[in-house]
Amino acid sequence: MCNTVIVGSGIAGSVLARRLAEEQDKQVLIVEKRNYIGGYCYDYRDENGILIHKHGPHIFRTESEKVWQFLSRFTEWEDYQHKVLTNVNGQFYPMPINLDTVNEFLGTSYTAETVDEYFAAHRTNPAEINCVKDVIESQIGSEFYHAFFEKYTEKQWGLPCEQLPPEIVARIPIRKNRDDRYFTHRWQAMPKEGYTKMIQNMLDHPNIHVLLNADYKDIKNSVECDHIYYSGPIDEYYGYRYGKLPYRSVTFKFETYPIEQYQPASVVNYPNNYDYTRITEFKHFYRSKTTNTVIAKEIPGPDGDPSYPIPTNENKELYSKYAAIPNDKVTFIGRLGEYRYYSMDQIVERMLELKI
Ligand code: UDP
Repeated sequence: MCNTVIVGSGIAGSVLARRLAEEQDKQVLIVEKRNYIGGYCYDYRDENGILIHKHGPHIFRTESEKVWQFLSRFTEWEDYQHKVLTNVNGQFYPMPINLDTVNEFLGTSYTAETVDEYFAAHRTNPAEINCVKDVIESQIGSEFYHAFFEKYTEKQWGLPCEQLPPEIVARIPIRKNRDDRYFTHRWQAMPKEGYTKMIQNMLDHPNIHVLLNADYKDIKNSVECDHIYYSGPIDEYYGYRYGKLPYRSVTFKFETYPIEQYQPASVVNYPNNYDYTRITEFKHFYRSKTTNTVIAKEIPGPDGDPSYPIPTNENKELYSKYAAIPNDKVTFIGRLGEYRYYSMDQIVERMLELKI
């Protein structure tokens, strides 16, 4: 017997568990099917002493003071500014595209004042911005679209850019200056001891009880509660009654090398070659001094653990049918429950604002 069941111990479920325990003195049971907490944020220190993000690179950033202050109760932070390079035709270029990317790729010497000449001469002018192709080409033209975005996006999402909505690349700016940071949020950092530790601290409350290795489906008849917060896929919860919602999955291929550094940045994108989209070298996140290094190649595909909801209109409509099923007992939360491509801070913000 408990007041509330939360299915999934990812960042959504964990923030909510803490609020329910603290603000309302609820007894909370978290049901987690994996043998560890944290969901896709889970990280661990490997035998080389490097913190590995098991489900791919997680870079914390936010504009919200409320989010930053809430999480700062559970972790100290390590300064970190994320930088990404992209490998096009065997050369590394700063990503997002900035003045240096433009000049190095074109062999030009535009300045912040003159680069608009290139953009103005090459950008397209579609009547409406309907897809990823429109977003990029209307800013910087087709040469950069083909070299830096088209194949990466199609590899990542398994659909042509013409069928993918603008929001997918909305977070990637095109810059006229030389700023080579991936994000420019007011707060950006890595939790000092990792995400798992931060979430473990969040769940460390006498009212919160965590059941690992437990599939909600198997135990639901033996648990009584007033309300359920469900962070798994909403279509799965309803037994796929309207059909399966498509998710993109990612397989991580981890490799260890007996060298100090594999690549010059934490993340290098490979838009045009290989079956992987990017390689992450984890030691850069904490500037770990080790003699070995560990990398992960990200290979997207349709099968496996659902990671990215695919936000086409058709899929959003299907999701709306599931969301419209009357259900006072269950609230769906997080990327999979709400079928939305959220970053960590957006999820925390939503969970802090959720009426409980
Ligand atoms: N993208 C791209 N080329 C790149 C980097 C990103 O085309 O070099 C597109 C791609 O469609 C990707 C989206 O921008 O899915 C968002 O990129 P982000 O790095 O934010 O993706 P995430 O880290 O969430 O997978």
